[in-house]
Order: sequence, then structure tokens, then C-alpha cells
Amino acid sequence: MSETSWNRDGGAARQIRTAAARGTLSHALLLTGGGDLSGLARFAAAAYECTSAGGRPCGECADCRKVFRGVHPDVVTVRDDEHKSLSAEVVRNARSDAWILPNEGARKVYIFPDCSLLTPVDQNILLKVVEEGPHYAAFVFCAEDVSAVLRTLRSRCVELKSQGAPSAPRDIVAARGEELCRRVVRGRGAVAELCTKFESDKKKLTREDLQELLSWCREAFAAALFLTYGREPPEEYGVIARHLAENLGRKRLVSALDSVGACCRDCGTTVGVGHVLGALAAELEGL
Ligand SMILES: [Zn+2]
Repeated sequence: MSETSWNRDGGAARQIRTAAARGTLSHALLLTGGGDLSGLARFAAAAYECTSAGGRPCGECADCRKVFRGVHPDVVTVRDDEHKSLSAEVVRNARSDAWILPNEGARKVYIFPDCSLLTPVDQNILLKVVEEGPHYAAFVFCAEDVSAVLRTLRSRCVELKSQGAPSAPRDIVAARGEELCRRVVRGRGAVAELCTKFESDKKKLTREDLQELLSWCREAFAAALFLTYGREPPEEYGVIARHLAENLGRKRLVSALDSVGACCRDCGTTVGVGHVLGALAAELEGL
């Protein structure tokens, strides 16, 4: 996440920085409200890991840079690409992983980017480790709507309200783009499902929106392909490019790049959004 994305969130980011400077940053944070909560969560993770003697996170030290590029081995974003909600197994794995010492960082940080994906069972699994986990473990929960979080879990966290404005259009494009790319990896109808959702959404995707989305994805696939040849991806595509490169391999990356490129060009013609989405689903499901 780039520096600019958390600078917008003066309030919560400042609270994190102040607490880090005083050495009072809680090991369990609950980030609520609108804005870029994932970016803010990464900012907090960098504050835990930062090795600078000055203000933390400094954004400059090796640990900060790894956190912001999404490659720090001790900062784990708990995701479950196989299921809509996080499966209890994924949550249990995170819980037991917390007892394994950090690889290189000062802390082991677990980011839960969307608490609405955590079932009450999941949250109960986490209660004990949040309360009595090892001293190096830290947890960052993100919840746009705080009612998604059980009172018991909430009471163990320090809540920070993000003052950020709702996502800027660019953030929406990036979020949708990343979702589409992750679904290409997941396969088994996941892309088609998302395309159907785009079509049936109340806020219809315009041809321009779709073109912007596809051009974001094209950049992501290109960055992933370059990565397989050893070239570092631009920061904006760092996390997703790694995910794509690890899971798809060159041949499928090239096919995906071709398909997305063709659909992107179609958006510049008179072809309807529905047709482009249909073609996109068919091509990406059959990689
Ligand atoms: Zn630092």
C-alpha cells in the first residue's frame, strides 16, 4: 500500500504512530469505519515491525519496506481464497501459527482484512490467542461495520476509527481488479460468478469502468509475468503479482494477459458490457 493511501487517514494513522512512539501500541487493534482499512492495517503492521529509532513506522527501513510491499514473512494476511467466509480451519491454522516464533521480525502480525468474513465460531476460536497469546503476536482486525465483531472479541481490542473518506475511485478499481485476479487463480466458476455479480449489481458497471478494471488487471498480469523473469513488480501490483506468479505459471499468465487485453480493447468499441463480461468469464475460466 502506498504512503499516500494511509496519509489520507490522519486520525487513526496518527494514533498508531503516537502509541508506537510511546511503546503502548496494543497487540490487538480493531480498525473500523470507512476508507482504506487494509492500507491502515498494513501501516499498523509496519509500526509493529519497524526497526527505526525514530517515528514508527518510518517507511524506510527494510522491515517497513517489506511490510508495505506485502512480502514480510511475519506479517500474515489471513485469507481464504477457497471459501466465501474464512473456514474454521484457516482460522485455527493462524491461531497455532501464532505460537511459532517470528522468522525475522520483532513481531508476528495477523491481519484480518474483513471481519464480516469471520463467523462467530471463527471469532471464538481466536479469543484465547488474542487474550493470552505469545508476547510477540499482534492482531489487526478490520471491520467497516463494527457489528460484525463479537462483543467478547471487541472488548479485547483497542478500537481505532478510520476517518478516511470512502474509497477513492482508484481504490475501487484496484479492489475489484485484485478480486478478479484472485478468482482467476481460484478457478472453478469463480470468475464467472464475479462477472455475473458485476452485471446484476444495482450500480451498473459502465463500459469505461470495465475498461479501467481490465486495464488494471492487464497491468497486474504483466507485472506477474515479468516477475517470473525476475523483475520486481511496481508497488501497486506487488502483492497480487506475487500471488499470480506463484499460482499460475508463465503459460497461463500469457493467456490471461492476451484474454484481458482483448476484452479491454473490446471495451473501446461498441460491444456491450454484458458481452465483454461473458467473453471474459469464458476465456479466464478456460485458461
Ligand atoms: Zn521502519
